[in-house]
Amino acid sequence: MRCLSRVKNIELLGNEGHNSVLVIGVIHGDEPQGKFLIEDYIGAHPESPLLFIPCLNPDGLAAGTRTNANGVDLNRNFPASNWERTEKNEFWGGESPASEVETQFLISVIEEYKPKLILTLHAPFKVVNYDGPARETAEKIAQIIGYPVEEHIGYPTPGSFGTWAGVEKGIPTITLELDETCPVENLIEPVSKIFDMLSF
Ligand SMILES: [Zn+2]
Repeated sequence: MRCLSRVKNIELLGNEGHNSVLVIGVIHGDEPQGKFLIEDYIGAHPESPLLFIPCLNPDGLAAGTRTNANGVDLNRNFPASNWERTEKNEFWGGESPASEVETQFLISVIEEYKPKLILTLHAPFKVVNYDGPARETAEKIAQIIGYPVEEHIGYPTPGSFGTWAGVEKGIPTITLELDETCPVENLIEPVSKIFDMLSF
């Protein structure tokens, strides 16, 4: 596995590249599970055909914040048609759509590598949420990890990654909300099975 692309300290890792499944961790800096689980999996599966961004938000991870260093919730910064200017709170979507370097990097990766499915790892809701044509894969993931499938998270998410990639670009996009009360070591087994399942 090698670094295929990088901006600042955000890395895209993979072997094959184009038209693979893209797995993304730590869009929110206070949800560190994704980086741990991806790095553990890569260590055990260096020949994996999947594409990985272990940590999209390194500044938020270092600071322990949901947002990036500019105070922007990256999951509200995507140029979906429902992006809106909001108050500067923890869900602030930025000054304009795709204003943030992290958002721009992920958009450029998707435009170049054209993933056939995208899985993002979040916490803490214990649900498999999906956007776009991803219900069947969401159900397979739900069976492995034992969380319910829900098409909508239950609150408005203007400028979310799922709306931009899944609904508007039509790429099957799954948001796996992990159980943050579960020790992350105990998530290795089910999440590895999910990555294995997505490898075929
Ligand atoms: Zn999140």
